[in-house]
Amino acid sequence: MRAAVLHETGQDKLEVLDDVEAVGFGPGKVRVRVRATGLCHSDLSAMSGVLPQPAPFVPGHEGAGEIVDVGEGVRGLKPGDRVVLCWLPACGACPACRRGQTELCLAGFMNAGTPNFRRPGGDVFGFAGTGTFAEEVVVDAGCAVPIPDDVPFDIAALIGCGVTTGLGAALNTADLEAGSSVAVIGCGGVGVSVIQGARLKGAAEIVAVDPVAARREAALRFGATRAVAPDQLADAKQQITAGGEGFDHVFEVVGKSATARTAYDATRRGGTLVIVGAGAMDDVLQLNMFELFFDEKRILPSLYGGGDVLRSYERAIALWRAGRIDLAGLITHRVPLSEVNEALDQMRTGSALRTCIEI
Ligand SMILES: [Zn+2]
Ligand SMILES: [Zn+2]
Repeated sequence: MRAAVLHETGQDKLEVLDDVEAVGFGPGKVRVRVRATGLCHSDLSAMSGVLPQPAPFVPGHEGAGEIVDVGEGVRGLKPGDRVVLCWLPACGACPACRRGQTELCLAGFMNAGTPNFRRPGGDVFGFAGTGTFAEEVVVDAGCAVPIPDDVPFDIAALIGCGVTTGLGAALNTADLEAGSSVAVIGCGGVGVSVIQGARLKGAAEIVAVDPVAARREAALRFGATRAVAPDQLADAKQQITAGGEGFDHVFEVVGKSATARTAYDATRRGGTLVIVGAGAMDDVLQLNMFELFFDEKRILPSLYGGGDVLRSYERAIALWRAGRIDLAGLITHRVPLSEVNEALDQMRTGSALRTCIEI
């Protein structure tokens, strides 16, 4: 079957090969025919080495498709079922799951050293245990979450990562009150989903901050009340918040210490900084002990929406079906798998909110 492979960490192009096989099928596993996958910024971060990931690997972790085969002992799934692929499945039994913090379950990472694919040249891994830039994947049954028939594959794929991450940061993690002031730094697919979540919660002002003009324009369509380049954030803060004290809630959706520092400074004393972006282990955020204590700003990281993942999927589908969030509008580009490198370029230049790769 066909899959897009990164041969070595640090390379910037994928090779679409037709000699790849999804491996590992057996008890407790399902085989999924991938139909659509989004390109998430984390895929680029894994390719460049910012996020840890053994190579060679098939990127992609935001996907949806149909079950083609179920292994022994799998319940509740059968061939033909439509599913979202979940890269952070919950085991239901570990201390984090028992506390209801299923987004902190590490079960999905236990197989991180096991290859997901094979080709004549050797083993190939799947990014985040999935690797959706492929016609087929074999995953734990818990990674295949059934979806209703009225949810198209391209919409379902977005729910598999970006939408769940962004909406959840606003709906689960931030204690966002109606009437509050919000700034969102980084307005790709995830940032725009944060904006939609902040709008649902009744934020008064939502300032979108992004260096790319096309993304600023998109942010306004999704509910931002103002959109500025990074060098205009200080002015916006001065104009919008009382005495320029800073925003009630600032979301960092880039994953860099420099933007996190900017976000911290843009947060009012006693306000909330939500860290959504996925950053590198060697990129260190510096805060001095005086400001940390004296300004009482709350720093709340948000992993994969910071809440129960299955509940987050259901909520996103309900909001989409009721027309309360726009998911189709997130897909600004579409390419077939053979043109996956164009999708990478669209993400790098910032011209795409999401490129849907149709497989
Ligand atoms: Zn668990
Ligand atoms: Zn992602």
